[in-house]
Amino acid sequence: MVVAGRMNELAKIPVFDGHNDILSRLMHEGRNGAETRVLRGSDRMQVDMPKAREGGLAGGLCAVYVPSPSWGADANGDLPRVERPSALEQTIAQAALLRRIAAQSDGAFSVCTSVADIRSAMDKQSFAAVFHIEGIEAAGPDLDLIHVLHAAGLRTLGPVWSRPNIFAHGVPFRFGHDPDIGPGLSEAGRDLIRLCNRLKIMVDLSHMNDAGFWDIAKISDAPLVASHSNPFAICPHSRNATDSQLDAIRDTGGLIGLNFGVKFLHPEGKPDTDMDLSTMVRHVDYLVERVGIDHVGFGSDFDGTLISNKIGDATGLPSLLGALRSAGYDDVELAKIAHGNWLSLLERTWGA
Ligand SMILES: [Zn+2]
Repeated sequence: MVVAGRMNELAKIPVFDGHNDILSRLMHEGRNGAETRVLRGSDRMQVDMPKAREGGLAGGLCAVYVPSPSWGADANGDLPRVERPSALEQTIAQAALLRRIAAQSDGAFSVCTSVADIRSAMDKQSFAAVFHIEGIEAAGPDLDLIHVLHAAGLRTLGPVWSRPNIFAHGVPFRFGHDPDIGPGLSEAGRDLIRLCNRLKIMVDLSHMNDAGFWDIAKISDAPLVASHSNPFAICPHSRNATDSQLDAIRDTGGLIGLNFGVKFLHPEGKPDTDMDLSTMVRHVDYLVERVGIDHVGFGSDFDGTLISNKIGDATGLPSLLGALRSAGYDDVELAKIAHGNWLSLLERTWGA
């Protein structure tokens, strides 16, 4: 009973999460009835509205992700490129799905374009969704689409997923290898970053390779953000952030969101779904020590990656907060990690 009481109390610390893949998961499971599945609940989803309410998941960045045509790497070890017409079709379909969910939610799901929107949605217990894209294959070098998507509510984007496109080189998935794989930004990629700065669209560095990370660090006038990545020092996976990248994130007042995916957490790269929460706590401890308590958040990757059954889905968030509290984080620090740091970062990136 004591444990249950504690969990209820922790569920009251709202979580604003830096990355979920509910949109592409819903599309993958079938377009028909997708709104109902996420609003009323589905066994196949790690995030749906009943689970979000139970676990205290108050909102987060909802990613548009265009599936790769295959998982087979080419001679350079890169995943295949996505053609622009299919990327455009998927991007529009998932962006429209986000709107349809909100429209059918009876106020339970809001698409937010400012931190004021997010705070107001959280106050009303309405899921605060932010329109994000990871991998902008849908856009051409003229960047016309970025203007259109911004007008449609896009407030954050990762130039790449883990594959090359005309803007940059997404880092291939390699355990035991640092992110220094492939070239940096193209000229179109540099234009993209400048435009994002101008429109105040957050630029997400997760999935970027090392050269691209440093090119963006040089060009961008916004805080550096890796929305769903872990410290390479603990889990040496190419998707994770090196110490010098973490230092740059800290020095620009940026943020790193803890990825819950076991393959980005396990020190030996094992996809261990029985992984203890202590491994996640170790990652948070390392990040807090390296970048400071004000620059660490969550980037769960719910519905996009394999997660330990100690968390399982959005209802497991109080367990993670409980593990962090047991490790010595007080309520003020937990509130920063759970949502405060994300809201502060977005406010500084977007303007008040
Ligand atoms: Zn991702």
